[in-house]
Amino acid sequence: MTPVCPFVKAARPDDSSSKKSGENSVRHLAEPESKLKKEFNNSANASPKCPFGYDSQTFKLGPLSCLICQALLFDSSRCVPCSHVFCKACISRFNDCPLCGADIEKIEPDENLQRTVDRFIEGHARIKRSISSDKGEEAATENKPVIYEDVSLERGSFLVQQAMRAFRAQNIESAKSRLSICAEDIRGQLEKMGNTSELCSQLGAVLGMLGDCCRAMGDADSAIAYFEESVEFLSKLLKDDLEIAHTLSVSLNKIGDLKYYDGDLQASRSYYFRSLNVRRDVVKQKSDVLSQVIDVAVSLAKVADADRNLGNESSATDGFQEAIDLLESLTLKSEASGLEQKRLSVLEFLRSQLADKQEEATV
Ligand SMILES: [Zn+2]
Ligand SMILES: [Zn+2]
Repeated sequence: MTPVCPFVKAARPDDSSSKKSGENSVRHLAEPESKLKKEFNNSANASPKCPFGYDSQTFKLGPLSCLICQALLFDSSRCVPCSHVFCKACISRFNDCPLCGADIEKIEPDENLQRTVDRFIEGHARIKRSISSDKGEEAATENKPVIYEDVSLERGSFLVQQAMRAFRAQNIESAKSRLSICAEDIRGQLEKMGNTSELCSQLGAVLGMLGDCCRAMGDADSAIAYFEESVEFLSKLLKDDLEIAHTLSVSLNKIGDLKYYDGDLQASRSYYFRSLNVRRDVVKQKSDVLSQVIDVAVSLAKVADADRNLGNESSATDGFQEAIDLLESLTLKSEASGLEQKRLSVLEFLRSQLADKQEEATV
C-alpha cells in the first residue's frame, strides 16, 4: 500500500498529537514496547471529551483498539480464558495472548463490543463537523473542512490512518472496510462540493489503496477494477497537478504489474506506457521536480522490461539507455540525499539490465 497518506497535505495523522503537546512528542521517542503500554495507560489518566478516550492525545490506542494492529477492532474476538480482545485476523496468528501470555484455548467473537466499535465509527468517525475557529465552534457552512472533533483529525485522515495500521499488520479485511467507508464519504463530499482537485486526488488514492487490499487478498480482478476506477477518475482531472499525476501513474503501473504477473505482457506494456506518458507530461511542464524525473526513468525501465520479455530487444535497449541518460544528466543538491540514493539505485539497476544483455550477447 502507498506508504503516504493521501490526506497528508491536510493533516499528518501521526504528527497531529505531538504538535499539540510537547509531552506527547517525548512519548513518541520511547521504545516501541513501552510506548504501547504507556499510551494505553494514558488513556485512562487523561480527561477525554469522548467517554471512550478518543481525543487528540489519547485516541491512538484505547479500549476499542486492537493492541496487535493498533487500529480500531475489526471482528472483535475474545481470548478464552484470559478475556483479552483483539481483531480476529490479528489474534489468529498467536498461540499465546500477546498481552498477558496466557495460553489461548479458543477465541470467541465479541459481537457486543464490535457493535460498539461500529457505532463509534458511525457516530464519531463519521460526524461531519465544520470547525470555523480555534475554539472549535461549529460552523453552519458545509464547505469548511470537516474535522472529527473527538479525534482532532479530518475524517478521511482518521479512516485512512486506521486502514494503514491494519494493512501494515496484515489485517487486510479491516483496512478494506475502513477504506470503503472513506471512499463512500469522499464520494459524498464530491457530490456536494464538486470535483476539487484535493478531493479527487484523495479518492484516486483511496481507490488505489482498496486495490492494494484486494491484491494483498489475492483478488487480482477486484484489484484491477479498483485501480481502473482510480485511473478513470484521475484521468478526467487536470494533469498539471503533481499529486494527481503521480497517483494516476502509480495506479497505471499497478495494473501493469498485475497484468505482467498474469502473463499478459502486451497489456502490461500498454499500462506501463500510459504511466510513462503521464510522467513525461509532468516533466515537460515542471522539469525542475527531480522526483518526477526519477519517476520517468522508472517508467522507462518498466516499459523496456516489458519490451524485452516481448522479444523487442532493440526497443528495450533504447529504453534502458534513455533512462540511464536521463538520470546521468540530473544534478541533485546534497540536501536531497534521499532522492540521490534513489537515483543511484535506479541507475545501478538500469546499468545491470544492459550489462546482463551484453554478457549474454558475447557468450
Ligand atoms: Zn487488530
Ligand atoms: Zn490475555
